[in-house]
Amino acid sequence: MSKNIKIRLFSATPLSADIEWLPNDAQSHYLLNVLRLKIGDEIKVFDGQNGEYVGKIVSLSKKNCTVKILQKVRDMKYCPDLWLLFAPVKKDKTDFIIAGATELGVSKIIPTLTKRTITERIKTERYEAQVIEACEQCRRLDVPQISDPQSLEKILETWSQDRILYFMDETGNGGDIQTVFKNASTAKAAILVGPEGGFSDEELQLLRQKNFAKAVSLGERILRAETAVHAALSCWQAICGDWK
Ligand code: SAM
Repeated sequence: MSKNIKIRLFSATPLSADIEWLPNDAQSHYLLNVLRLKIGDEIKVFDGQNGEYVGKIVSLSKKNCTVKILQKVRDMKYCPDLWLLFAPVKKDKTDFIIAGATELGVSKIIPTLTKRTITERIKTERYEAQVIEACEQCRRLDVPQISDPQSLEKILETWSQDRILYFMDETGNGGDIQTVFKNASTAKAAILVGPEGGFSDEELQLLRQKNFAKAVSLGERILRAETAVHAALSCWQAICGDWK
């Protein structure tokens, strides 16, 4: 029965059977005014830490409703330990990057400030909303973490040696993606994609000096940043991740 329930919402508070859960204002509006659900209708709810539950609307007013959490229908499961570092681009394209990366199963997203990143477009709360919406839609149980924007230099200074950083290098000097990923030596990985204007020469030089960083080529065509993000993440999931 629970398989047929398509509506799936995120709870910011921990869930367990038999508690009453209060959707936030936007979620209540969606349930009551957009979907026009009534008392007795069932939805799915997940909290990013305890799995997924079925709940039933047990009371409602004009603006809010209460959902009684019935039983757990899926145990908690986490995506592989894959981070995305991307240089924010225009608003819609960044939304597309974040939603796609969430669907493609990253565990953490780090907006990365490079020399050519346009910084006034960065809105972390907007990114968080995109992540939640994508999790609700793609049936993911865990929610990727979004960190505050950080400069590439700072990130490289404090990088932990046990995580390999694959940087997408459009200059043609990187290894081919299939060979590089097939030879991956650690389960902890991160993918870095540059801004619309590409990495500066100094940034490429700095990256090449780091023993935890590996240059990767996505072929001879130059891809838009958002295409490069989704292509690189897809390749990693297929070769090293949970698409196997
Ligand atoms: N302005 C740059 C140019 O014309 O050479 C292109 C930058 S590209 C739009 C944005 C980012 O996508 C690059 O910094 C790189 O990380 C990634 N990218 C795009 N095409 C790539 C390729 N063929 N191989 C590796 N990375 C690529």
